Formats: sequence, C-alpha cells, structure tokens
Amino acid sequence: MPSDPSRLSKSRYLSGLQCHKQLWWRVHEPEAPELSPTPGQQNLFAQGREVGERARGHVPGGELIDLPFYEYDNKVTATREALQRNLPAIYEAWFLADETYAGVDILERTSRGHTVIEVKASNSRKPEHLPDAAVQVHVLRRAGLQVERAEVMHLNRECRFPDLSNLFVREDVTALVEAALIGVPDELAAQQRMLDGPLPDVPIGEHCTNPYECPFIERCWPKLPDHHVSKLYRIERKQALELEADGYATIYDIPSDLELSVIHARQVKAVQSGRMVVEPTLTKALVPFASPLAFLDFETVSLAIPRWPGCRPWQQLPVQFSVHMEERGGGLAHHQWIADGPEDPRPALAEALVEACTGARRVVAYHASFERECIRRLREGVPRLAKELERIEKRLVDLLPVIRRHVYHPDFGGGFSIKKTLPALVPGLSYLDLKVQDGEMATVELQRLMLQGAEMPAGERAALRGNLLRYCERDTWAMVKLLEKLRSLVADQLELF
Ligand code: SF4
Repeated sequence: MPSDPSRLSKSRYLSGLQCHKQLWWRVHEPEAPELSPTPGQQNLFAQGREVGERARGHVPGGELIDLPFYEYDNKVTATREALQRNLPAIYEAWFLADETYAGVDILERTSRGHTVIEVKASNSRKPEHLPDAAVQVHVLRRAGLQVERAEVMHLNRECRFPDLSNLFVREDVTALVEAALIGVPDELAAQQRMLDGPLPDVPIGEHCTNPYECPFIERCWPKLPDHHVSKLYRIERKQALELEADGYATIYDIPSDLELSVIHARQVKAVQSGRMVVEPTLTKALVPFASPLAFLDFETVSLAIPRWPGCRPWQQLPVQFSVHMEERGGGLAHHQWIADGPEDPRPALAEALVEACTGARRVVAYHASFERECIRRLREGVPRLAKELERIEKRLVDLLPVIRRHVYHPDFGGGFSIKKTLPALVPGLSYLDLKVQDGEMATVELQRLMLQGAEMPAGERAALRGNLLRYCERDTWAMVKLLEKLRSLVADQLELF
C-alpha cells in the first residue's frame, strides 16, 4: 500500500468497497496487529505470486517492471518508459491517475490499444474480480491509455500435470467491466473524502465477511455471552437473530416448549443442566467399531500449480498419515509416513498405508469423508494398489457422527470438530502443547518441508518434521481415547439398568 495516506491504490479501493471503516483502519493504522497475515494467508500469497510469474509465460515477449513493491512512483515512471518501446506486453505495469495507483498484472498491446489482464490464482472467475479489473481500467484510461479489453486469467481446473499448456483460462470480461466502471469515480472520491476525516461509523453486517473476512471483526463485533444462541450447532445467522429478537439471547433462555432439531434439543438440555447428555442409542452406534481397529488420519497439501502426474490446480493430496493399529494381543502399534521432499509422495505413502492397515477389520476416521477423498486420490495416483486402497476405503467408520448424534457436552461450544470434542470428553488431552496445532498450519508447514526442506539447516528440518509427526499422531491418539471414552459411557449406562 502507498505510504501517502491521501492516495488510494487498487487494494485500498477494494477494501473500501467492502467497508469504509476497514479502509480507514488499514490506512491510518497500517501496523495494526490484525493486519499481520496468518501463515495460511502467507502461503496463499506465495502461491499467488508463483501463479502470477507463470502467467507471464502465457503472454510472452513482455518486459517486467521489476522494482520493489513500495517504489510506487518509480514503477509508474518505468512503465511510462516501457510503453514508449512498443513491447507486446508489460508485466506489473503501474499507473497513477485521480490520486489512485493501479498495478496491472499483464498489460498486453493489441492492434487497437491495450488489454488489461488480471491474473487470479483461483480455479474460476469470481464476482469480486470485476471491481478489481474495473478500477484498473478506470485509472489507465484516466492516465491516457487506450484500454480496449479486460480479461480475468485464472487457473484451469481441467489442466492435468504434466501438460501445463492449458494451465490458464483467459476470460473476456470487457462488457462486465464497462458496466462496473460507472460507479468507480464516485466511489474513489467518497473514499478519499472519508480518509481525510475521522473514523467513519459503519454498522456491522453481512459485508464483514463478504467477499472477504474482515480482519477487524474482533474490534467491531460485540463480545457475545457464553452459550449465545448463535452457538447452536450450525444455526443460520437469520435464525439466531430471530431467536434473539424473540428474547432468547442465550441457550439458557430457550423455553422447553420451543420446537428444535434433535441435535439442538440435546445441546439445550446439556447446557441448561450443565451436564453431558448421552443417548441410550450410543450402544448400538458403537457396534460397527469392531476390533481389530486401525485409527487413520491424513494431512494434505494443495498446490496452485500441480507438480505430480494427473494432478490439477489446487488438488488436495495426502502427503502424511498416522495410524494407530490395535494388536491382537492387546496394545497399539503406531505407524506413520511423511513426505519430506518434492517428489510425488503417493506411491510410497500408499504402500506404507496398505501395510499399516493390514489386519484391521475397521478403519476409524474422524470426519471420514475427508479420509475417503484422500484414499480416492491415492487410488488415482497409484493404480497398482487401487484394490488394496479400495479395501481400506470400504472399511472406514466415522467417529464424528457417532458423537454428533448421541452425545453432547456443554463444553463442545456448538461444534463437533475433534478440537472441540477431545478436551471436553478426554480432559487433559488437547493440541495446546504442540507446535503445530491445526490442519491449516500443518498444510503450510508440510509444504515448506517438502519444497524448501532441502535448503533448511538440518536441525530446523528435523524439528519441523518432528512437529508435523507429533501433530498427526495426536489426531489418531485422540480417536483412540475418544472411542475409549464413548465405550466407558456405554458401560456406565448399562450399570444404571
Ligand atoms: S468488522 Fe465489519 S464494520 Fe468493522 S471494519 Fe470490518 S467490515 Fe467494517
């Protein structure tokens, strides 16, 4: 973003389009802690940069305005000079008009003028790409350039490695952008006026999460009381607002005669009584969990630009697993596998997985649709093991719906993810003692280990590998302890009768 608070940029304009208050904070508090990108966002930015660089090769013969991102005015001057050279394209071209900077990913020269190409690392064009292209076209025209056409160039979900010749799709959005241009000058002027004044008063609403989640939600949104009605499992915002309007602000306020779904009714009962609710049907739900069991969890990466045969952009692929396997004589054996280099991990992972699950009658997962999808991706990538992998897939049993349909603990907080259910059902066991504590961080770190591990000092690489192994192992150990707990709840119930 430009250091001059009175000037706008494309990214400032887009923030302001979502919310003036957000833009005001971005400009006047650029060091706000909320603006530090999370590891997941940094990963997306890095992959976006890679996509941007790759896109240039698909519009060849251009020149890159290769200056540090903060040298706005120098980039504008360098672009002006490059335009004199009548190049087929300019990459990262910069313009200034109406006190607004606009950077163009690819500016292509055509027989009648120029095409603005906005490169996106997504697999499709999205509505929010249009104002992005529109503000560029506005600034370029105001700077005196003949812009004839606007395109969004995004990744192609039909592309399959190793053939990357069709990695991108170029969509003509000229007509849509022309329509979107109408409001641009007024909005730019309104944002500039707003930035010269005090923090504007903007009420919270749908715009706080649409099209992007605002980083300032914690500042703006009121703190909710414990067990607020919005914490009812998967409740729609509208329904929560209606309950609040009817005078039921928290789950404690909900009357016994209010019609509720089965899960909500169980949640209300647990919260109001302050005790875990266990349905008698839990006994039957645990029947499919027949020993010997294997407890399975995968971690995945998702690469914008595919690297392995048959993979498409952003395909999620398993690159690590943990299995706790019940042994015949009692006890558990632990098996694990992790990719720590850039080569295709699927053949070795699939082999290790088949071996780890050998002898299991059932394979336990938490939210098994994810594991099922991972196994399918492995079957595609390693056809010689397709049959063995299919057998694992057919033996999957899911622990999550067992808890969701039969148990509610007041500490679940309206969710059934393992991060919520584990500490409530197995006190003392959580993820808080680990360096890698969630799936998003695991994905980022796995990608770092695989693609940059070779350049890391040996100690750092070993520590990273260890952190990832401990995280995945915790997931399967958590399932072991959760099933143990559920079985003990059934045993307690039987004792009551
Ligand atoms: S939380 Fe909502 S109202 Fe507050 S700055 Fe963000 S978008 Fe604007």
